[in-house]
Amino acid sequence: MRVYNFAAGPSTLPIEVLEEAQRDFLDFAGTGMSVTEISHRDKAYMAIVSEAESLVRELLNVPQDYAVLFVQGGASTQFAAVPLNLMHNGVADYIVTGNFAKKAWQEGRIYGTANKIADSSDKNYTYIPDVKTLDYTVGADYVHITSNNTIFGTRYVQFPECEAPLVADMSSDIFSREIDVSSFGVIYAGAQKNLAPAGVTIVIAKRSLIQQPLDICPTMLKWKVQDENGSLYNTPPAFSIYMACLVLRNLKKKGGVKAINEVNERKAAMLYDFIDNSSLYHNYVEKSCRSIMNVPFVTGSEELDAKFVAEAKKAGLVSLKGHRLVGGMRASIYNAMPEEGVKALIEFMKKFETENR
Ligand SMILES: *Cc1c(COP(=O)(O)O)cnc(C)c1O
Repeated sequence: MRVYNFAAGPSTLPIEVLEEAQRDFLDFAGTGMSVTEISHRDKAYMAIVSEAESLVRELLNVPQDYAVLFVQGGASTQFAAVPLNLMHNGVADYIVTGNFAKKAWQEGRIYGTANKIADSSDKNYTYIPDVKTLDYTVGADYVHITSNNTIFGTRYVQFPECEAPLVADMSSDIFSREIDVSSFGVIYAGAQKNLAPAGVTIVIAKRSLIQQPLDICPTMLKWKVQDENGSLYNTPPAFSIYMACLVLRNLKKKGGVKAINEVNERKAAMLYDFIDNSSLYHNYVEKSCRSIMNVPFVTGSEELDAKFVAEAKKAGLVSLKGHRLVGGMRASIYNAMPEEGVKALIEFMKKFETENR
């Protein structure tokens, strides 16, 4: 039986996509080979990479002067790639709103002066600092943010408007809501939250910014080189890119980012509403910054939280255990989580509340 999987990443994928991949697994595009066996230089496979790129461009309205790249190493490798491609003056600003944001900042410090211009750890990352009042460094090479904080369940509603190019880690909310790509210098995202199996990372970068990586930048991390080679500088994560292509086709069929954003808003509102009106469950995130992808909640008792996670699992609602830094529960409700899944979770929460009052 298929369960409702609330994992934060790798996470659930659209069932139609999984079925299609299964159907075509032994014979990809009439080649008589699996997509995992075929050469990445084969025309049939190169068509997938180019279609995936076009779909990213179409679904996010990516301007022509931006590169769209498929690279490896996860978002964590991009923590290094960002300074290695952009830190020409040796200084950048970081807004630290969670664990991944902190890791990105720490990686930035290896290569230059990484100024932490805001940090919401004083309240255990339950809010996003007011980006209008920050002291942005004059002459900084970029300002780095994490658009959605996967562990703590916060997101930016408004993005910084700064002089320096804005760089955003969008690993856990890319394709979940409409964004104006032209207001960012670089966007990157590990695929395993909202897009595909682990293995591929998307980078969307304004070409004029990426022409001069630092001398010490490894070739594989040079966005310029990846761009010049159409993301095929070396063997790409072929299966993940193929899956990303199927997910993006599926998203287009469902009406694109605007349509899925409406569904996502509905799912999140339903869950937060229920939590806010319950006497057992609490969400500690400042309301204006609540993520629509990751919803942490607690009962206030560790013992009851553990019981909740165990009983939910028996009811076919899995991976609800919260991250160790937050405790309690976390429901990740990415694009591929159907509304019925969220409804089933709420029904279970009601029942559990009645039984454990
Ligand atoms: C999951 C996640 C990461 C880490 O991604 P990897 O691909 O495992 O390196 C980084 N940033 C955010 C916002 C994430 O959600």
